[in-house]
Amino acid sequence: MPEFVEIRTEPEEEKPELDVPFELLDLNLLKPHEELDPNELEAFIESVTGSGIFWKAALVSKEGYVILDGHHRWAGLKKLNAKVMPCILLDYVNNPEVKVYTWYPFIIGSLNHLIDVLKNIEEIELIYESNKDTVVEKVESMEAAFGLIHSDTNKKFILIAGDDDPYDLQKIIIKHLINDQKIQLGYIDTIKGAEELLVQGKAVAYFVRRAPKKKEIVERASKGKVYPPKTTRHSLPFVPKKIHISLEKLINP
Ligand code: ADP
Repeated sequence: MPEFVEIRTEPEEEKPELDVPFELLDLNLLKPHEELDPNELEAFIESVTGSGIFWKAALVSKEGYVILDGHHRWAGLKKLNAKVMPCILLDYVNNPEVKVYTWYPFIIGSLNHLIDVLKNIEEIELIYESNKDTVVEKVESMEAAFGLIHSDTNKKFILIAGDDDPYDLQKIIIKHLINDQKIQLGYIDTIKGAEELLVQGKAVAYFVRRAPKKKEIVERASKGKVYPPKTTRHSLPFVPKKIHISLEKLINP
């Protein structure tokens, strides 16, 4: 069972497929920028050991060899003692074709319970705010780590702030949400989609957060620091064609 549900309102399948060259890069050369989800890691390991075939090249920045997409493939291959991973190297920082967005966490369950969980996290402060645009602005300017938006007209929205780096605060909050048995955490790709979940009653709240900039991602990864899971959502105007490489070749290149 995954720890969370993932909803894409902008499906990748609608993009054209492209035959993009890839390289076998040393796993130790590559730098992650996000925390892993243990369940996703296990799912990948099961898949690749089951078929013995690796079919989806990772996306890696030419600047600093940062893994943009493929954290679980990278960590899974490492666990399987592979030496290399098929990677598509991308001009990243100044390439307008590569876009970076974020995933918005949403909550299924009770809003009152969610607010209680947040109130009990000692590293954070809750600031009540009635204007949704102000919530978004303060998150964008990093005055808050998250903004909590919900559909209960009797309650104000909530800005979540604290002394730590906003992304480190997000990590703490997400850990509390994952560990709570009474609520379910999901991720959705757009604010519009998240708003629809509220209208349809499929979620009680969602968190707005700022997508990090490309330069920040490269800098953070180069320092060996990672963001919380699903902080970045990288998007290309095409979908790279599937490849077909035996796992054996990645273990003994
Ligand atoms: P992240 O999105 O955090 O970078 P991944 O993209 O590595 O993590 O997540 C696992 C990915 O591995 C999924 O996109 C899945 O489609 C892919 N995958 C599953 N089985 C295989 C396989 N045998 N070979 C290559 N990729 C696979």
